[in-house]
Amino acid sequence: MKNNLKSSSMKKIIFISLIFIIILGISVLAGNVKLRNVNIKFSNNHEITVLTAKTKIADILEENHIVLEENETVTPALDSEITNTNEIVITLKGNEPVKIAENVSTQIDKEQILDDYTNITEKIETIIEEIPFETITKDVSNGSATTRNAIIQSGQNGERKVTYKVTYKDDVEILREELSSEVIKEPVDKIVQIQTKSIITSRGSYSRTSGVSGQSGVYKVTAYCACMQCCGKTNGITASGAKATANHTIAAPSTFAFGTKVVINGITYTVEDRGGAIQGNRIDIYMNSHAEALAWGVRYVEVEVLN
Ligand SMILES: [Zn+2]
Repeated sequence: MKNNLKSSSMKKIIFISLIFIIILGISVLAGNVKLRNVNIKFSNNHEITVLTAKTKIADILEENHIVLEENETVTPALDSEITNTNEIVITLKGNEPVKIAENVSTQIDKEQILDDYTNITEKIETIIEEIPFETITKDVSNGSATTRNAIIQSGQNGERKVTYKVTYKDDVEILREELSSEVIKEPVDKIVQIQTKSIITSRGSYSRTSGVSGQSGVYKVTAYCACMQCCGKTNGITASGAKATANHTIAAPSTFAFGTKVVINGITYTVEDRGGAIQGNRIDIYMNSHAEALAWGVRYVEVEVLN
């Protein structure tokens, strides 16, 4: 019994000593590591506070068996250290909290603001501005290989009166708003015509026997077809409204009335079409294909005008 008593009090002593050792151990540990309360917010707005000695976000989460879902993200990032806000926020991707810049002085210098305002001035300005003219190019060469550009109308800039509200800061323009504008002078388009270059011949005979437009004589005769290059359209409808026909249709200057019969190289043609470059002693023969028209080229031939 006595022995029993002795041994039980021995057990008590050992037990109490063990508790002391454990408490001592914990306080030693606590002295070496800094414990902190960390608030963890989940993406479903649920919050918990955990006591931890860890400082790395990943470690704190792991310690508390918190696993991020694939569509979740954490602030601060997993590999960073906990900040002095002791807060970890888990959000769905794309909903990350706006990071508030730290250590930024929010103190506003009142004088600076006043200064900024006093140096801003607004002025209403009315000025005359040029309206640049446009250049319009018209191709009347009927696809000829030799062309020249003729300016048939020179361009002229127009003018407009514009009223602006101009904002200056320290005499430097920072904003210009158009309040109203009025055209004073319309611009005049520059018109350039691409014309067939006349073949200059050393022989004077052509000019002497050249057909006076609408009369028999030697004409400069070219050929065309119904292609884009020749006509700028492909429907083959002539200026007279008739459908162009090979061995029949020719384009001639307006001094030839539509329907006038003209004999060229033994074939009787009918004037059914016009052409920008077909002026003076010029005639254009309609052909079925562009290749045929090219093969014809430019010929000076005797043309007989029938009545
Ligand atoms: Zn053609």
